[in-house]
Amino acid sequence: MSGGGASVGADEETRLRQAVIDTALAMSRSGLSPGRSGNVSCRFGGGMLITPSGLAYEDIGPADIVHVAGAGKADQAAPRPSSEWRFHLAAYHARPDRHAVVHSHSMHATVLACAGKAIPAFHYMVALAGGSDIPLVPYATFGTGDLADHVARGLAARDACLMAHHGQIAIGRDLPAALELAQEVEVLAEQYFKVLSLGPPALLSAEEMALIVEKFQAYGQNVQRQRRS
Ligand code: 13P
Ligand code: ZN
Repeated sequence: MSGGGASVGADEETRLRQAVIDTALAMSRSGLSPGRSGNVSCRFGGGMLITPSGLAYEDIGPADIVHVAGAGKADQAAPRPSSEWRFHLAAYHARPDRHAVVHSHSMHATVLACAGKAIPAFHYMVALAGGSDIPLVPYATFGTGDLADHVARGLAARDACLMAHHGQIAIGRDLPAALELAQEVEVLAEQYFKVLSLGPPALLSAEEMALIVEKFQAYGQNVQRQRRS
């Protein structure tokens, strides 16, 4: 379809295109991203496969998923890529160890992002994002290189961040992992929002959070589990 690299077969490309759609559908059906907001991609060859801009996920097929090359050029024949292709690409450049991106306007993450609040270490599960907080990156107009620069900095040492006056972004080693983290970020945002209503919470120390990050490396079946995107 896109010629994403001689080493990647056509069957694999079709499978990945469908996996991007399935993830976008799961995101939208679970209520994580209302309306046509949000977008999903996975790394492909030197670039990525990404949802098209402004199309309802219920109506799209594998051919509507857009291949964007590593330098940012989209296939001419395809629909236009998500307006946020710049920050998806910036995430892949910033994090060679991650292969999928889920961006959503999930309710509580967006509420905190609009109030200018990052999520601090109020709960140990915050460490799922890779550190002692889920940072908030500054506002920039959607679709711009400035927003991509902010997101790249926010994800340099974390797997998720909030985007001021916008929403959240989560990355993962594959599409299910990125979607699962986006859901966890939303749960943590809702919990933090409610905790804040009782007054400023006590926070866990940086040392404790570093310990939790380490424990998560070997948590559950992580040692054996190798999911495909
Ligand atoms: P797209 O439909 O272009 O992906 O835009 C949705 C969005 O969430 C923009 O930030
Ligand atoms: Zn958005």
